[in-house]
Amino acid sequence: MDENGFIPFRIKTVEPIRKTDRKERAEIIKNARYNLFNIASGDVMIDLLTDSGTGAMSSAQWAEIMLGDEAYAGAESFRKFKKAVSDVLGFEYVIPSHQGRAAENIVSRALLKPGMIVPGNYHFDTTMAHIEDKGGRGQFFVIEEGLSPEKLHPFKGNVDISRLDSFLSDKKNLEKVPFFILTVTCNSTGGQPVSMANIEALSTLLKGYRIPLFMDIARFAENAFFIKIREEGYADMTVGEIVRKMMSYADAVICSAKKDPLGNMGGFIATDNKDYYEMFSVFCILHEGYLTYGGLSGRDLGALSQGLYESIEFEHLAYRTSVVRHLGEGLNALGVPVVMPIGGHAVFVDGLKYMDHIGKEFFPAQTLGIALFIEGGIRGVEVGSLLAGRDPDTGENVYPAMDNLRLAVPRRVYTKEHMDYVISAFKGLNSTKKEYKGVKIKREAPVLRHFTVELDLV
Ligand SMILES: *Cc1c(COP(=O)(O)O)cnc(C)c1O
Repeated sequence: MDENGFIPFRIKTVEPIRKTDRKERAEIIKNARYNLFNIASGDVMIDLLTDSGTGAMSSAQWAEIMLGDEAYAGAESFRKFKKAVSDVLGFEYVIPSHQGRAAENIVSRALLKPGMIVPGNYHFDTTMAHIEDKGGRGQFFVIEEGLSPEKLHPFKGNVDISRLDSFLSDKKNLEKVPFFILTVTCNSTGGQPVSMANIEALSTLLKGYRIPLFMDIARFAENAFFIKIREEGYADMTVGEIVRKMMSYADAVICSAKKDPLGNMGGFIATDNKDYYEMFSVFCILHEGYLTYGGLSGRDLGALSQGLYESIEFEHLAYRTSVVRHLGEGLNALGVPVVMPIGGHAVFVDGLKYMDHIGKEFFPAQTLGIALFIEGGIRGVEVGSLLAGRDPDTGENVYPAMDNLRLAVPRRVYTKEHMDYVISAFKGLNSTKKEYKGVKIKREAPVLRHFTVELDLV
């Protein structure tokens, strides 16, 4: 692997980072109403808010930007994109969309009716929001280890097949289920992969109940990389071969191309099923645009085509995951509790444990995010009860099993030395964290509240 520390790129363009001090940062976060989304990026020193759309494009991707064909219909850039999806993922039909949630909107508008239940290992927040927006409900079947920060398991994104089986064996449930969504890697539980054996078992189970298997494949390449290095029988297959095998079990996939496909913008739906293609096409044209651009510029489609090929390169994935692991192991060595094993795209700090002097109703992980910004100018994001929002039926706050601060690492942007800086900020936090007593909500939106919420320090 990367044990010799090989970095599979050299740096061609740099973006300077402005250094801020503690006093300035305390003022910045206060003016942002203690919501990290409200901070201007120029005020952030290391931005680990998300790995979505924040990756560095390669020189070959920039070349595709110049080759973009902006024809309304039948653009050459779309032909390249369709070929890349077919070569890398193996699907015949592809519908581009402006990002992942637009693909979710298309699929859920086409297939969901009020009262339906969409099971999954664990839905991403926008997936859940789109299901609820159409009157449906989500239900999670991730294995028990997936919900526990310290329990070790190589594939914590796996589905609990027997729990799903007993759910589906009840006719009252079964008739409400239009499809299953498997998220690879499982973002919300820590960027945890799903094993090929689990995908196979899931596919067999769902076929028995005649339920289609959909996959949310934002991080398909990282998932395949983990299968290669962790699952028996896959060491000699290429990442690309593993990806195509994973995809062979899916009836349709939705993808945020801002993640593994190395785009700054984009998404898509892909399938081999012509009926789905035709159903989804209607809503693509309605919401996104004509079928050969779907809300994207030709140049975006060109850059994405190249990005798809680069996404499955072994050296790229080995270095990327090693940067994330470097951060996680460094924090672990300081006694900072992180979700183990360390996931593909991010390190998740266990807010309930690290900030155990703060009750869950005062949002410990969000408070940690504020503290980390003041300490080092580093921006993470809460993945916990602020993000989980309120139960749509009761209006009560939802407190998920985990309340984490996610430190997501953009692709090809930061090196291990940047991660060392983050680790040193936590060294400071180890002694200052008790000064923070939690936050209270001042204002919130009815859906996806974490993006716009206004908070006060307790
Ligand atoms: C980011 C993401 C989405 C939504 O995609 P956007 O491009 O942000 O709209 C859906 N599912 C998963 C797993 C994601 O990580």
